[in-house]
Amino acid sequence: AKRQGRGCVRVFDESMDESIRFRRQIETGLSEAIAKGELKLVFQPIVGRDLDITGFEALIRWCSPEYGMVPPAMFIPIAEESQLIHELGDWVIDEAIVALKTWPGQYVSVNFSPRQFRRQNFVAHVVERVTSAGVDPGRFQIEITETAIFDNVERAAEILFKLRQMGFRIALDDFGTGYSSLYNIRRFALDCLKIDRSFVDGMGRERESAAIVHSVIHLGRALGMEVVAEGVETDTQLQALRLAGCSHMQGYFLSRPIDAEDAQMLAERGTLL
Ligand code: C2E
Ligand code: CA
Ligand code: CA
Ligand code: CA
Repeated sequence: AKRQGRGCVRVFDESMDESIRFRRQIETGLSEAIAKGELKLVFQPIVGRDLDITGFEALIRWCSPEYGMVPPAMFIPIAEESQLIHELGDWVIDEAIVALKTWPGQYVSVNFSPRQFRRQNFVAHVVERVTSAGVDPGRFQIEITETAIFDNVERAAEILFKLRQMGFRIALDDFGTGYSSLYNIRRFALDCLKIDRSFVDGMGRERESAAIVHSVIHLGRALGMEVVAEGVETDTQLQALRLAGCSHMQGYFLSRPIDAEDAQMLAERGTLL
C-alpha cells in the first residue's frame, strides 16, 4: 500500500489485495465454523520407550465445505491476529476435556498460542475451565512456545509458576527453535520439553542435529523433565532416540493424529503394541 497524504492508503499491489481478501474470507468462515460444527480435534499419541501411551496432543482441524481441509498453519495465524483465537482456544480446551474424560489416565496436551497466553487473567481462565469440568489439572498439559514467553519474561514466569502450583503440566513446544532456549529452561517451571522435529529429522544426516538431540535429552533428564521427540517418521529415528535415552516420542511412524473415537480405543488398550 502506498500512502497518499494523511490517512489515505491506496492499494496498488493486486496480489496483496488478493491476500487481504483471502484473509477476510478465512476470518469470516472461521468465525462461523465453530457454530456450524466444522471444527474438530484429532489426537496424536505420545508414547514412552515401550510404546505405552502416556498422552495425546490435541490438534485442531477445520473441514470447510467451501475450502476443504484448511490446515491449522493457515488459519491459526489469522485467528491469532483477531479476538477469534480466544473463542477458538476455548473451544479447543472444552473439546480436549471431553476426549480426556474417555481415557483411563493419559494426559491431553493442548497448544496455546502466544496471544492466548498473554490474555488478561489467563491463569484464572484456564483453571476455571478445567476444574469446573471436574478434570485433574495433572492430566492437562499446556503447550507453549518460546515466542509466548519472549516478550514478557517476568509475566510468563509468574503465570507458569501459578499454573504449576495448581497442578497443571507445562510443556515447552518446538524446543530449540526459539530464542534463549537454555535461559528459559533455567528460569521456568517446566514438566516437558518437546524437541522440535527439525532436529529429529536432521539426526541421521548432520552431526549437529544429532548432538543437539543428545544434549537436550541429557539436559531434560538431569533436570527431571520429560523429553518428547517430535516428528519421529522412521524406525531408524525411533531406534536412535531410544539409544540416546529419550523417554518419550511422537510422530507419524508411531501414529498419525487420530479421531476421538480411535484415541479412546487406543487409550484403553494403553499401548501401540
Ligand atoms: P505443533 O504444535 O508443532 O504440532 C505438531 C505438528 O506436526 C502437527 O501438525 C502434527 O500433525 C505434525 N506432525 C506430527 N508428527 C509428525 C511427523 O512425524 N512428521 C511431520 N512432518 N509432521 C508431524 P498440524 O496438526 O498441522 O499443526 C500445525 C501447527 O498448528 C501445530 O504445530 C500448532 O502450532 C498449530 N496448532 C494445531 N492445533 C492447534 C490448536 O488447537 N491451538 C493452537 N493455538 N495451535 C494449534
Ligand atoms: Ca504442539
Ligand atoms: Ca511442536
Ligand atoms: Ca511447530
